[in-house]
Amino acid sequence: MRTYHTPLDLVRERSPERPVALVRRDAVAVAARWFQTNFKGEVLYAVKANPSPWVVETLVQSGVTGFDVASIAEIELVARHAPGARMAFMHPVKSRAAISAAYFDHGVKTFSFDTHEELEKIIDATGGAKDLNLIVRMGVSADGAAYSLSGKFGVDSHQAPALMLAARRATQELMGVSFHVGSQCMRPTAFQAAMAQTGRALVRAGVFADVIDVGGGFPSVYPGMIPPDMADYIAAIDRGFNEMPVSETTELWCEPGRALVAESTSLMTRVELRKGDALYLNDGAYGSLFDAAHAKWPFPVKGYRGGADGRELEGGLKPFSFYGPTCDSIDYMPGPFLLPEDIREGDFVEIGMLGAYGVAMRTDFNGFGAVETVEVGDAPMASMFGLARRSIPAPRTAIENVVKLPRAKSKKRRRR
Ligand SMILES: *Cc1c(COP(=O)(O)O)cnc(C)c1O
Repeated sequence: MRTYHTPLDLVRERSPERPVALVRRDAVAVAARWFQTNFKGEVLYAVKANPSPWVVETLVQSGVTGFDVASIAEIELVARHAPGARMAFMHPVKSRAAISAAYFDHGVKTFSFDTHEELEKIIDATGGAKDLNLIVRMGVSADGAAYSLSGKFGVDSHQAPALMLAARRATQELMGVSFHVGSQCMRPTAFQAAMAQTGRALVRAGVFADVIDVGGGFPSVYPGMIPPDMADYIAAIDRGFNEMPVSETTELWCEPGRALVAESTSLMTRVELRKGDALYLNDGAYGSLFDAAHAKWPFPVKGYRGGADGRELEGGLKPFSFYGPTCDSIDYMPGPFLLPEDIREGDFVEIGMLGAYGVAMRTDFNGFGAVETVEVGDAPMASMFGLARRSIPAPRTAIENVVKLPRAKSKKRRRR
């Protein structure tokens, strides 16, 4: 990967024709070390948030040895770039061939499921293996999240005890429970509530779980979505764990995706046309801007003038919306994105905080999929881990109108 000191250096040197992903290894390393230090259990990275090889390698170098995978392609990726790492196949619906290949070819022993049928499928496809770690996926409330992950997966509280019992009987290794409070969870107490709900189901089942897996959902920081301190999430999980019916040997796991990678990557796009306060960019909804289009998140931006004497644009900010390069009218990002009012065709817009579910979502639709990746050495535009050099302007109203975020209670930082 080519390296530039700053995004501005890239613009000055090359005024790139195609969009360029700007990656910061340090941002992933710092987030990973924060989780390793503060989370009192095992950290498994949810690969789907950003399956770039450099992410997997940076995580391994930062001490992360567990990966939450959902497909054979993700398993092969981790096997290639993190040989020997532990993998957990946490997709609750898998093909028999995928289960067999995971178990027999890649040594994957941890599987999740939310039905008796899937549990039987796992046992069948592993040839009646007795050394499986079997994780029951619970359905929990996603009240505090910007993206729900509970509508599709998770056994409800009434059916959970029978499934927990069946799992307990099916293995001599670990039986566990997992849930996902929803992505970009703005309320730390959502974790505690989900743990309480899971604990009640365990009591009804009359079993101890060997693993409590609190899933992902740890937030990043975007304009208009400033979550409580990450330490508050750890504190809520600690309280939840202490209130659960667990034994001394019960393990605590988490599966962060977004929080480990969101800050790391920004995208350098070019303005191909300006029409009033709409900018037509060379990347969009079918590229790295899925969330900007579909969830209408107003990501943080910076403007640059290209050429050898290029510079970061400064001065009076004005709200803009973006159109992407495809011919589809869905390819529209309403923003508002605050940029200097003199921005024009040929200028560049760097869009920040796209490391999670941004670069991972690209398609080749309409011939616009290509993106180059380079490394940069500047700080991310915003940070949950104290990395950012400036805070981001926050057009609060836009995001709240769309995702109807619950008001997070303000909290003092807790110290243990
Ligand atoms: C997507 C996913 C995650 C990661 O979620 P984030 O919100 O990115 O932290 C973790 N676990 C499972 C099972 C998932 O599907």
